[in-house]
Amino acid sequence: MAGDEILVVGAGFAGAVLARELADHGRTVRVIDRRDASGGNAHDSLDPRTGYMVHRYGPHIFHTSSGAVVDWLSRFTAWTPYRHRVRALVDGRGLLPVPINLDTVNGFFGTTLRTAAEMDALLAQHRVAHPVIRTARDYAESIYGRDLTELFFARYTRTMWGRELDAMPASVLSRLPVRRDSRDGYFEDSFQALPEQGYSALFRRMLDHPGIRLELGTAFAHAMLASHGHVFLSMPIDEFFGYDEGVLPYRAVRFRDGYAPVGDLAGHTVPTINLTDGGPVTRRTRWSLYPGPHHPVPGTGVEPVTDELPGEARPGEDERFYPVHAADGGGEALYRRYHARAQALQGVTFIGRCGTFRYFDMHQVVAASLGVARRHLGLPVAGEAG
Ligand SMILES: Cc1cc2nc3c(=O)[nH]c(=O)nc-3n(C[C@H](O)[C@H](O)[C@H](O)COP(=O)(O)OP(=O)(O)OC[C@H]3O[C@@H](n4cnc5c(N)ncnc54)[C@H](O)[C@@H]3O)c2cc1C
Repeated sequence: MAGDEILVVGAGFAGAVLARELADHGRTVRVIDRRDASGGNAHDSLDPRTGYMVHRYGPHIFHTSSGAVVDWLSRFTAWTPYRHRVRALVDGRGLLPVPINLDTVNGFFGTTLRTAAEMDALLAQHRVAHPVIRTARDYAESIYGRDLTELFFARYTRTMWGRELDAMPASVLSRLPVRRDSRDGYFEDSFQALPEQGYSALFRRMLDHPGIRLELGTAFAHAMLASHGHVFLSMPIDEFFGYDEGVLPYRAVRFRDGYAPVGDLAGHTVPTINLTDGGPVTRRTRWSLYPGPHHPVPGTGVEPVTDELPGEARPGEDERFYPVHAADGGGEALYRRYHARAQALQGVTFIGRCGTFRYFDMHQVVAASLGVARRHLGLPVAGEAG
């Protein structure tokens, strides 16, 4: 019966997890997505020419320290352990570890330091004392000094965010671990893996439930509100309101797919490298170096590579990927106006990255949507007082 049916807009992690949890508790759920595939930005598929698995919206590495999130998702997938390491290609110095560690400092300054104390002593000569840490530049310079800050953070920020480091809040960098040894794992979580058969296979299983009706290629329309018991939306909140308070700032990414000769790794010692040359490309991915699942087509002589070229997202034209949280708080204040209006609506809940204008990793979206589902069902939520 349509009146009791719940509508979920978006078949990415936010929408699909919510839909499955509601369906598991006996609810009937209609899931729509304007794309022709589920999985949202985690969608992957085999490259038809070469048979390598490609994440269509950039490499997605699953990482979490939440056993509950792993257990919940493991109903739909087995996992291939994978520990992500990132290298930055630095002019004249080759590939150096990111986040910055002892080896990065040695490679950059041409030193042979071996201890945290030696690294501290060297950086102390370069650190800039900022009495108050307000911006991301203040933060980075106070730890690494001007040269490392310019090369590893300022250039990347210009290309990635289209902004100077001085215009970004310190919080964009203070999330990164500060390493004083040679550890080079990108994430610190206890669980790091890729779904054994890929993300799309995981989503197919998650959405395969008699209580879930999936409609791909279907965009949200306001007329849908009246015919559903409750509507959960992972679409951009400003789009829902017709942008009438203003446009929330997002960065888009253009994915430039190409091919490279098999065997010629062009310097890739890890699957994804960051470029620091200040050019338009932030990251380059060599898909064969991820664990797959790959089903290589013999004899093609090539394998897929993808460059990421960030730019400002134009509403209605580009996919909106990264919410921009600038130091002046502009986007945040605008979001709060939309959020207040959304809260005044009956039977409407915004979820996920674009619904709540927050950068979420996948495990965070999963945990958030499980919480939203349980609250809707009147069930206790872990970590909340009953
Ligand atoms: C380049 C990139 C790399 C990333 N790498 C990682 C990583 O390594 N590890 C990690 O944990 N996270 C990563 N993330 C974050 C991850 O993509 C998000 O956590 C996740 O996609 C959020 O899920 P979501 O459902 O909120 O949003 P999405 O995945 O964007 O799903 C939203 C869905 O809603 C649909 N939709 C939007 N508007 C409408 C509408 N009007 N009508 C119908 N459907 C609509 C969209 O088509 C989309 O399918 C990365 C993100 C990006 C952009």
